[in-house]
Amino acid sequence: MNDKSTALPGQLNISPRLLLGPGPGDVHQRVLTAMATPLLGHLDPQFLTIMNETQEMLRLAFQTKNLLTFPISATGMAGMESCVVNLIEPGDRMVVCINGFFGGRIAEIAERAGAVVTRLEAPWGQVFEPNVIRDFLKKVRPKVLAIVQAETSTGAWQPVEELGKLCHEFDALLLVDAVTALGCVPLHLDAWEIDAVYSCSQKGLSCPPGLSPVSFSKRAVEAINRRKTKVQSWYLDVTLLQKYWGAERFYHHTAPITMIYAIREGLRLLLEEGLEARWTRHMRNYRALKAGLLALGLEYSAAGGHQLPQLNAVKIPAGVDDVSVRKHLLSEFGIEIGGGLGDFKGKVWRIGLMGHNSRPNCVLEVLAALEQCLQNQRYVFEAGGGVAAANYQYNGSGEPQATACTSPTAPR
Ligand SMILES: *Cc1c(COP(=O)(O)O)cnc(C)c1O
Repeated sequence: MNDKSTALPGQLNISPRLLLGPGPGDVHQRVLTAMATPLLGHLDPQFLTIMNETQEMLRLAFQTKNLLTFPISATGMAGMESCVVNLIEPGDRMVVCINGFFGGRIAEIAERAGAVVTRLEAPWGQVFEPNVIRDFLKKVRPKVLAIVQAETSTGAWQPVEELGKLCHEFDALLLVDAVTALGCVPLHLDAWEIDAVYSCSQKGLSCPPGLSPVSFSKRAVEAINRRKTKVQSWYLDVTLLQKYWGAERFYHHTAPITMIYAIREGLRLLLEEGLEARWTRHMRNYRALKAGLLALGLEYSAAGGHQLPQLNAVKIPAGVDDVSVRKHLLSEFGIEIGGGLGDFKGKVWRIGLMGHNSRPNCVLEVLAALEQCLQNQRYVFEAGGGVAAANYQYNGSGEPQATACTSPTAPR
């Protein structure tokens, strides 16, 4: 009898996709190949070497000498939770800067960890000025100040280079969410005096979701060592994790071997290209995409001068249906872009050009496809204007203009 096998789902058979949303992005072929490598035992000497190599490359990617630098075996949210629960003891004061969805998440986790949270809020899409942060540090005197460098819900790029010094003036630790920043835009942990940071594998590093690199400064480790209470989460307690990732190799949990192969290759790709070259590539493709989107009459939701090159959030024009456009992109072109999150639900589209996907092919493809979808919605714009403006930009013909392209044949 084989009536059991007839009830089985068929072999996995997925449609080709171009993942241009807020993550995951497409996984680089070299990462996929690394993931097909047979397993080693997680305490095999060869695997221990792979762990060391991964940590060393992570330090280079983060621009840090921090000893406590390793990937948490879970997604970015676990990195967020791990940073908060290790730094915070019940009753500790914490300032959380909120100008989007993810700042709000940090505050929620901090409250669950027993922190006395003060929310420093700014309108979605805006960034925080150091002066405003200084006033709050002076007034609240928190143990930790948390801020999101790359707010994926709004596309806002928060400058963080001055904040470490500022926090240390007031004896506070600086915690930075770099989930969408790592591998896309500059991040210098040591030079910027960042005390705790977390990221993820599926955005700038072009790996599948599943790992969250974290790093803790000497100041942060001292604060952790001074704790009077145990870290509320056993699994995310970084001093226990360090005994596994450090010289002791004390069993903590079984490392997700295949994901470590993946991130090792993702980091190799990043460092082979070079950090500066990687950041420059992201800016170049952002400028072209932006020129194209502006030519279509679309507006960015993040403030000018503070737009992330890897996450382009644009307002959905009046009369255009959010879901129809995204469905059309997916069914006709296999292209995924992101919808809005939280306050921006139904109001913005989020186009990600992260890591491997920050390429001219992706820029031109999404613009051309979006033009068809917008025409289909009876939205009025100069046909072909988006692709043309992106190409002018690639060919060095100037900065994006805020007005619709009037003469697609003449470079502006
Ligand atoms: C994606 C993201 C997270 C959460 O990461 P997951 O891997 O989805 O758990 C946290 N913060 C920011 C800014 C993000 O963009």
